[in-house]
Amino acid sequence: MDKARVTIVGGGIGGLTAAIALAQNGFSATVLEVAPAFGEVGAGLTLAPNAMKAYLALDMADAVAQAGVEPARQRIQHWEDGRVLRVLERGDMRQIYGAPYVYIHRADLHAILVTEARRRGVRLESDAGVVAVEGACAVLHDGRRIEGDILIGADGVKSVVRRAFDPAPPHFTGHVAWRAVVPVTGDLADLVSWPGMHIGPRRMVVRYPVRGGTMMNTVFFARQSGWTEDGWSIRADRSELDGVFTGWAPEVQAMIAAVPADGLYKWAINARQPLPGWILDDRVALLGDAAHGMTPFLGQGAACAVEDAIVLARALSASASVAEGLKRYEAARLERATFIQLESNANADRMQADETELFGLQALRNEDSLGLFHYDCRTVPV
Ligand SMILES: Cc1cc2nc3c(=O)[nH]c(=O)nc-3n(C[C@H](O)[C@H](O)[C@H](O)COP(=O)(O)OP(=O)(O)OC[C@H]3O[C@@H](n4cnc5c(N)ncnc54)[C@H](O)[C@@H]3O)c2cc1C
Repeated sequence: MDKARVTIVGGGIGGLTAAIALAQNGFSATVLEVAPAFGEVGAGLTLAPNAMKAYLALDMADAVAQAGVEPARQRIQHWEDGRVLRVLERGDMRQIYGAPYVYIHRADLHAILVTEARRRGVRLESDAGVVAVEGACAVLHDGRRIEGDILIGADGVKSVVRRAFDPAPPHFTGHVAWRAVVPVTGDLADLVSWPGMHIGPRRMVVRYPVRGGTMMNTVFFARQSGWTEDGWSIRADRSELDGVFTGWAPEVQAMIAAVPADGLYKWAINARQPLPGWILDDRVALLGDAAHGMTPFLGQGAACAVEDAIVLARALSASASVAEGLKRYEAARLERATFIQLESNANADRMQADETELFGLQALRNEDSLGLFHYDCRTVPV
């Protein structure tokens, strides 16, 4: 196919990775981002080996790994007494899967992606909120129309592009998360050297290092009703955590005590039901959370988005027409993404069950044991 003009709605991790992959394959890519500037929220992100293979495909894996932290192991601990229920080895990921397991600050990854996209000639437009899609034409909030041959909706869980497929808004999953990135001082140094999580009935607390171990990403999950908004602007007070995590282990109390007074944000977890298809009019397709927004309980949402990105570029590149390329993309990705979406939900129940004691005795069913790390977006048939 002649190299087509691709408009990507959404300059998040999925959209930018897709733009870089498309540019690498000779396509002309434009990214439209609603925010006034390209940037990411102040939180951590796990890039499992299957995600890092996307950055190997783009010759960016070293840069991403160097900006992150590669853990040797993780531990899963009992909510109340801190007893170690399981240890997960992570130091051998490069040998087993051919790619590292990386913790990274989202803003650091995003900055690397923006620099690389610019270097490869991707057109990046901020303050470019898309309000409607007409064929492969994106209509912006100021009335401008951006014409292209292909339009990719990478605009997140609340995707405007997805409305053309499914008018339903995302659903609130019943899970909420409080998130903070805290400076590592005192006792936290020991805690962050052992990344992992405390699990308990209907709650879970995750910790891991970012920025060379100088900062610790913390996420406090609970099931709760009362707010359904996600967004980095919803401030929370530390006292909310005190109430929800009363009686949890001393390490969790130390994490709560370390949260800066003005640095805690709360986030309702919204997700999507799987769609039967991601293509419209042979010219429009969905990618990332817009296609398969999922709960974060396998740490695979962004991983799925960047896998989509590489497979999309490969499928288009290998095809004689746009319609064929999009079909091959969907055929290669739909089943895997849907499986991960459903398993992510199931993992919430496994990790936050009433009988925490039983967790260490049961067969492990997580992203690693499910075989998700083996997937290789560089070689999977398209
Ligand atoms: C608490 C939590 C922890 C998580 N941890 C992990 C993890 O460790 N590992 C992992 O792999 N995943 C994780 N995820 C999931 C991951 O964050 C998402 O799956 C990932 O960010 C999806 O990327 P995306 O590019 O598809 O969407 P987004 O990151 O949502 O990006 C969408 C972009 O589109 C823009 N946009 C929206 N609407 C418009 C519009 N109308 N016009 C133009 N632009 C628009 C937005 O501003 C944004 O920049 C986590 C999620 C949560 C909530």
